[in-house]
Amino acid sequence: MSTVNTVLGPIQKSELGATLSHEHVLVASAGIQQLYPEFIDRSETIERAVAQLSEAYDEGLRTIVDVTTIDLGRDIKLLEEVSQRTKVNIIPCTGTWLDIPRVFWSATPDMIADLYVREIELGIENTSIKAGVIKVATDLEGVTPQGEIILRAAARASIKTGVRISTHTNSIERMGEKQIAIFEEEGVSPSHICIGHSNDTTDRNYLIGMAEKGYYIGLDHYPGGRVAGSIDWQERTRILKDLVDAGIGDKLMLSHDHSTSTTIATRAAYGDRQAFNPDGYLFVSRNVLPRLKELGVDATSIEKLVYQNPQEYFFGE
Ligand SMILES: [Zn+2]
Repeated sequence: MSTVNTVLGPIQKSELGATLSHEHVLVASAGIQQLYPEFIDRSETIERAVAQLSEAYDEGLRTIVDVTTIDLGRDIKLLEEVSQRTKVNIIPCTGTWLDIPRVFWSATPDMIADLYVREIELGIENTSIKAGVIKVATDLEGVTPQGEIILRAAARASIKTGVRISTHTNSIERMGEKQIAIFEEEGVSPSHICIGHSNDTTDRNYLIGMAEKGYYIGLDHYPGGRVAGSIDWQERTRILKDLVDAGIGDKLMLSHDHSTSTTIATRAAYGDRQAFNPDGYLFVSRNVLPRLKELGVDATSIEKLVYQNPQEYFFGE
């Protein structure tokens, strides 16, 4: 690709800068905002996002990929306002997460691919804002029949437009491999796909195997460790170092899966999350990168994680 779409228009490679590969601003569910706006803290979310992303910009962040799909309550005008007020580039997505609309269940992949292509080429939600990435999701239940429609649709839209794919997986159950089986059948270039949520597992061989095939590996759950049994950020970072040492450092992308809205569950949950990760979008740069340095990872390898790898993912072959 020569440019990538952001909510304020296409940007060049040189404008990408320090990039977080998998984030959110506001997360909800499809239709809630239109029908039950009182359930959504939209204006509070905007103010929190502006505060957090302005602070992040001051500490060097330039771009976030917002992988909030329609079934996660995507709000393109909200992203536009936040980007305008913070100067942080926001790359919005098309695609579908786990709440696949039932009306898609009997569609063909081509029918869904056309919808994604329209959001990439013409615009989202009756605006001229175009999607810069395609999001798909596969969780514990594996590739369901309707999930397969979405995966194939994403593959076809990506092949047609060149726009990259970013996935949600359950990495403990090695769901990336199940997604890859479909992407291979569809003929998508591995270097156009980031297999996300890959740092919930300690299975280094699973991750190295996918990276060696050419896929990007999203180490995009930071800090982690909040749910019982989930590994903490220190262990995630030791694994990250092991992956760099194993020679796949140019295939890794870092992010938080942060969101500035209340969770789908309760308003109190936002406070919990904030207490757990007061650094928000800055957890990686404030904690993970210094720890990597302490662990002996050299500066060039650390820079790749922040700058070159996202550039290659979006703008490479
Ligand atoms: Zn996410």
